[in-house]
Amino acid sequence: MLKIAAHPIFKHPLPEGHRFPMEKYELLPKQLLHEGTCTRENFFEPELPKISNVLAVHSQDYVADLLELTVDKRAARKIGFPLSEELIQRELIIAHGTMKACDHALNYGISMNIAGGTHHAYTSHGEAFCLLNDQAIAARYLQKKKGIKKILIVDLDVHQGNGTAEIFREDASVFTFSIHGKNNYSFRKETSDLDIELVDQTGDKDYLEVLKNTLPELINKVKPDFIFYLSGVDILATDKLGKLGCTIDGCKERDRYVLQTCHDLNIPVEVSMGGGYSPEIKMIIEAHANTFRLAQKIFFLNKQHYQNSLIKRILVVDTLIISIS
Ligand SMILES: [Zn+2]
Repeated sequence: MLKIAAHPIFKHPLPEGHRFPMEKYELLPKQLLHEGTCTRENFFEPELPKISNVLAVHSQDYVADLLELTVDKRAARKIGFPLSEELIQRELIIAHGTMKACDHALNYGISMNIAGGTHHAYTSHGEAFCLLNDQAIAARYLQKKKGIKKILIVDLDVHQGNGTAEIFREDASVFTFSIHGKNNYSFRKETSDLDIELVDQTGDKDYLEVLKNTLPELINKVKPDFIFYLSGVDILATDKLGKLGCTIDGCKERDRYVLQTCHDLNIPVEVSMGGGYSPEIKMIIEAHANTFRLAQKIFFLNKQHYQNSLIKRILVVDTLIISIS
């Protein structure tokens, strides 16, 4: 079954006019339930993780500053959210969602987090709406608790996974791969194990060609036991921060290709959502919803889980045919 981390705390109240589209964390599960892509059973509520999991990635001083709300003003400005106890709890619960999603991915082949993809969080500081690096924390958890050795992080958010690159810079067991806009935040890039920079206005054809020419070969070389996929939808032409020229169909084909590849090669995958800043929330929700629709279609339709419940299967198949074809 497709298990998805979601929690009411993900939709955190922000000051009026803040540019982060926080409402997507409420609208996305609603949409998936409404259209029948998911039932309530698909969702699970993460909790607070053990701090030792967080400390496997982030420095003690930084974590203490977050927990005690003693982050200095300059560092807090870089994060871009007003810091509060509830926000820190939210970030911890998101990280736990990604950790638990890894457990489910090991069981079912795939699992997802409605939030996460906080790839601008470094070892000792946060940036650009990212405080704790959920996939890095979950990667360490997999290695320490689940005996996973080799991990590949496929970061297709339009912004470079700079925090992730820094965290695993010296670590050969986690391969960091990022395709991102050359002229996008951050302006001083880190060095991932593989970075591909795209020029402004890159459209579907060139984008997908780069991805399809790289990913299979990379998987063959790295031979990962587990893949993290960061499926940011800020590659859309409509995105306020993205600068690329992809369509919603191109974005969907990107997701399909990554998920199908993981499925066909039998490599468990955890998917965190990442960014999306199109002016119309409808566009953001539709693009993210596609990732979940594809996960259901590729991993679960016509599989044992659905055959267990004929009624549920028909419902899901019907709505998917409408929304995918
Ligand atoms: Zn982004």
